[in-house]
Amino acid sequence: MPHTPSRRAVLRGVAITGAVVMGFDTGTRSWATTASGSGSGSGLARVPALDGTLVMDDASLSAASDDYGHIVHRRPVAVLRPGSVRDVVAMVRFCNTHRLPVAPRGQGHATNGQAQVEGGLVVETATLADIGPVGPHSTTVTVGAGARWSEVAEAALAHGLTPPVFTDYLELSVGGTLSVGGFGGMTHRHGAQVDNVTGLQVVTGAGEFTDCSPTRHPDLFHAVLAGLGQCAIVVGATLRLVRAPETVRHYLLPYDDLETFLDDQRLLVQEERFAYVEGQVSADADGVFRVLTLEAAAYGPPAGPAPDDAVLLRGLRHDPAGVERTDRPYYDFLDRIAPSVEALKKAGLWTYAHPWLNLLLPGRAAAAVTGDLLDALTPGDVGPGIVLVYPVLRERLTTPLLRTPDDPVPYLFAVLRTTPPEDTATVDRLLAANRSAYEAAAAVGGTQYPVGSIPFTRADWRTHFGSAWPRLAAAKRSYDPCGILVPGQGVF
Ligand SMILES: Cc1cc2nc3c(=O)[nH]c(=O)nc-3n(C[C@H](O)[C@H](O)[C@H](O)COP(=O)(O)OP(=O)(O)OC[C@H]3O[C@@H](n4cnc5c(N)ncnc54)[C@H](O)[C@@H]3O)c2cc1C
Repeated sequence: MPHTPSRRAVLRGVAITGAVVMGFDTGTRSWATTASGSGSGSGLARVPALDGTLVMDDASLSAASDDYGHIVHRRPVAVLRPGSVRDVVAMVRFCNTHRLPVAPRGQGHATNGQAQVEGGLVVETATLADIGPVGPHSTTVTVGAGARWSEVAEAALAHGLTPPVFTDYLELSVGGTLSVGGFGGMTHRHGAQVDNVTGLQVVTGAGEFTDCSPTRHPDLFHAVLAGLGQCAIVVGATLRLVRAPETVRHYLLPYDDLETFLDDQRLLVQEERFAYVEGQVSADADGVFRVLTLEAAAYGPPAGPAPDDAVLLRGLRHDPAGVERTDRPYYDFLDRIAPSVEALKKAGLWTYAHPWLNLLLPGRAAAAVTGDLLDALTPGDVGPGIVLVYPVLRERLTTPLLRTPDDPVPYLFAVLRTTPPEDTATVDRLLAANRSAYEAAAAVGGTQYPVGSIPFTRADWRTHFGSAWPRLAAAKRSYDPCGILVPGQGVF
């Protein structure tokens, strides 16, 4: 991103709401307003008229300088709350003209400054959240990029339908998860969320509104899904829908041996015995990470047969004495972590630092690598966070930019660390531990799932994208020729 004198001049002169031009007085270092029409005469760069608002107040800029990681802070000069897609087009063009960096921000749940932009424009997509229409026979629904998955689920469920894949936490934006991938316990059946998109409406880095799909501008479509916001801002997405179950039978199955646990998980996803398979590892009373819980869910009618314990649990090697089984409505199952989130918020832990580690390991090395990483882990390294391990099926993951190990059954391994943000020495130590873990994973053909906080160089990104790099780089040149989009990812 060129940091030119002209860019500085624009930063001093950003402006506007309606007929009033706002300008920045460099002498007093404060914002001032002038009547519309006098902007150009006063040397201020005139911002286009908007349907929504462009805000520059301290609270909005501070909020946009933070995220769920609470580690990285980059301050934009303005935040756009678009009233329309036209606003996004107009402001991206404005930013192109003046070489201002831009980042869309959904719910700000990235952990490493990915949606932040120093001295640029943050586009908050929350105002672009229309959903629908959906009817009982819909096979897709088109939603605004700022819609949260909880809202999409509720709208679809009103007609007995559902997107096939959800993340564990539903309050993430559609645009935010489609820019990274979107994994969940259903991924072994249906791929990631990006694999269940039939069309996208985007504003490219050059400020062009474009509809794209696997057959319409496919290069753009494939550069946007899991493309970390590098080529375009998603403003709308058409998502696949399937029949939803009314109820779900949810199991927690305890294991005491890592290899047995991983093998049973693999068996379940290869057999597709359950609709959903995940797993957690927690520390025992001695602080050793060896309490293993396989989490599985079977969908009942009309999405599946009435669940039968004997059939579902046949041959599994968990401790039968510790099985927890609940039948619950489908939405309650999807939203199952909501009570824990509320408790974390109440306890003030939601605003702790989250130097997360998210890896994808080749199945052939999963036991060895997770074994080593878990052996080295202490309760202090995780805090009130959790450790997740679960397999996916590679044949279901078809999005080129969602990089996964070359193995039929990769495992997602995530250490969702939670630690006081003011203890920067610990945060730095955990970031360094993330890097070491990434290197151990990469040495056996693993990748990172890029939602966490692993120190990563541009060269690492090239390695990460591997054979997909030339196409991503070409799409970047075509669709974001001035290189203004999403510098916080550090890819280009
Ligand atoms: C509590 C919690 C639980 C999670 N659980 C899961 C899980 O189960 N599975 C999983 O896969 N992930 C999970 N994640 C990770 C999450 O999917 C990603 O961090 C996701 O990007 C966050 O969405 P967001 O709306 O907050 O995006 P933001 O943090 O706002 O943005 C993330 C990145 O996407 C870009 N972006 C945002 N909107 C757009 C857009 N409209 N167009 C183009 N680029 C855009 C941003 O510029 C930024 O680079 C979880 C995160 C949290 C905090």
